[in-house]
Formats: sequence, structure tokens, C-alpha cells
Amino acid sequence: MDAKDRLRLYLEQRRELGESELVLDSLSIEDVMKMVGAKPTAPKASHAPAPPLEGPMTPSDVSSVPLAPPPEPGVRFDRGATTDWREALRTAGATRPSDTSPPPESVPTVTAAGAAKPAAAPVASAVTDAPVKDLPAWLSALDLPLGIEAGWSRVIDAAPDVASLPTLEQIAEHAAGCTRCALFASAKHPVPGEGNPSAELLCVGDAPGVNEDEQGRPFVGESGELLTRILGAIQLSREDVFICDVLKHRPPGNRDPLPEEVVACQPYLLRQIELVRPRVILALGRIAAQALLQTTTGIGALRGRIHRFHGVPLIVTYHPAALLNNEAWKRPTWEDVKLARRILDASRSASADTTAP
Ligand code: URA
Repeated sequence: MDAKDRLRLYLEQRRELGESELVLDSLSIEDVMKMVGAKPTAPKASHAPAPPLEGPMTPSDVSSVPLAPPPEPGVRFDRGATTDWREALRTAGATRPSDTSPPPESVPTVTAAGAAKPAAAPVASAVTDAPVKDLPAWLSALDLPLGIEAGWSRVIDAAPDVASLPTLEQIAEHAAGCTRCALFASAKHPVPGEGNPSAELLCVGDAPGVNEDEQGRPFVGESGELLTRILGAIQLSREDVFICDVLKHRPPGNRDPLPEEVVACQPYLLRQIELVRPRVILALGRIAAQALLQTTTGIGALRGRIHRFHGVPLIVTYHPAALLNNEAWKRPTWEDVKLARRILDASRSASADTTAP
């Protein structure tokens, strides 16, 4: 089997597992399939979710969840050979479909130190929204790739009743009686969020699921267990952090939030962030990241950068629910939360320096 066949087989397997992105390059699997001349469609596998993990998440977890079984017996890609897929792609002489058209405009990657350098390679969806600028020295010193500077300033003007709520408890009470969108009618309980009112890390998911709706608490299902473990991996407990969602009521059938529901719920999340004043926000998954950053950029391009939301550094990572089915996303998630931890620590040190006598 030559490199191209091996790559094709690997991609077919990842696609069957429900994945749509190559984690490292944010290329869509369909794009890469086109590059290597493979068939554009393949049946999607249904498979059992990976078993829940125990203990804090560590880099070794990358290999602790077995791949879901293939839907049919047949030749499978040898996992030992997956590590050299990038080399296989090069060997295959693959070119991007867009290489036949004029090259895309180069998007400079601006580092926190302010040095602009050309992007190593154009990615499928580069971050082109309003770039982060004017970082404090402590954040610049980390010299990390920068992303989007975002804020929801007009949201507060549109909801002065929520904007003036003085405590998290009052936000929860207000959200419980909220009729700003239709979700209150189908949800069993509001899920406003919970945790340390002075948390240094604030985690934002997309919307409550069935377990959360039952209990009125965020991230209490299987993905919640994994979130607890992910936090444990950076020495944080659930009690240390504040956890909430973009939406405070469950969308029926766990469907994705509608744009109008996100807009209706924005004042609550913004006021929560204002009151908690975290050092770092961790956006869990594409929906939370795109809602906070007001972008359509894909999660692959949003990860690994410092974004800011109302001046608070924001890191994007995969949703814990996605990790339950995608072993390949555990390693990047580990990198993301380490990054969040690094920013948190740097922020603490900077505060300690300014308060020192
Ligand atoms: N997924 C979320 O985004 N939030 C929850 O509270 C639970 C699952």
C-alpha cells in the first residue's frame, strides 16, 4: 500500500467515525479526500460512544479510549502509522483544490510580542475577524498567536433590566422567569450556571442537555464528568471555576441553538462574565466560541490563539461531548487547557507584581 492509499484509508476511517476535520491543519476531510483523488462520499458509521474515563485527564489519555469499532469488517488503517499522515500527504504530492485558482491572501499571524510574521500555511478558515491588539505587557510576554477581539457592547443597552442585576443569584432568578425566546416553554428547568462567584476561570458551553434540563445544573451528564476531569488536569475543581452555557434553557431534542436564541440569552452571559470577572474564559466547542467571538471561523482555526472577550483572554477548545467520541481531539484539548492555565498563572503573577509593596 503506498502513502496515498494509506492516507486515503486513514481519512476514510476518520470520516466513518464522524470526524470532519484534520485536527492539526483544520482541513476538511472532504477537501483532503479531493486532494488525494478519493471518492467524495462514504457512509457514516454509527458507533457506541467511548467508555467514560476515570481520574484526571492526562496526555496519556490520548491512547486510553479505544477507537470505536468499524461498522463492517474490512481493512482498517494501522493506528501505528497514523502519526505520519502529514508526511504521507506530502509524499502523495497532494495539492489543495484551491491551488488551481489565485492564491488566497496571506493572513499574517501576529504574535503577542507584536511581531508580524507570515502564516506558515494558509488554513481552511483563517482568523480574519477584528484582531486582538493593545495587549498588556504580561500577556504580550507569552508571545502567543493572537485571535479575535470581541465584545457585545450593544447587548447591555438592549437589556438594561439584566445589565443592572447585582448578583449571580439574581441573574439566575431572572433567567428562570425569562421569556425572551421560546425555549422556556419546552425546558423543564432553567440552567443559569453555577460555581465560584469569583472564579478565575469561566467555562462556557453551548446549551443544557437532557441531564442538565432535569437537574437545572450545567454539565452534569457524561460530558460534565469529562469536563470535571479536564479541569482536574490543570489543578482546578468544579468549585474553583464558574460553568455556564450560552443558552440558559435547553433547546428541544438537543438541537443547536438558533441565532435568535443566542441573541436573546446574551445579556445573561455578559452580565455573568461582568460579575465574575474571570482571568480567563474557556469556550467549550464551536458554538460557544463562535457565539462569544461573533465569528463563523471554524474551531480548528480558533484554537491555539489568545482571543479576548471584553478584554478577558479567551481560549477555545473542543466540547467535552466531542471528546467522548473523538480520541484524536484529546491531545489538542490538553494543549488548550494547558494554555488557559498558563494565561491564568501569568495573569495572577502580573496582579501580584502590581500589588507588591
Ligand atoms: N453541553 C453543554 O454545552 N452544556 C451543558 O450544560 C451540558 C452539555
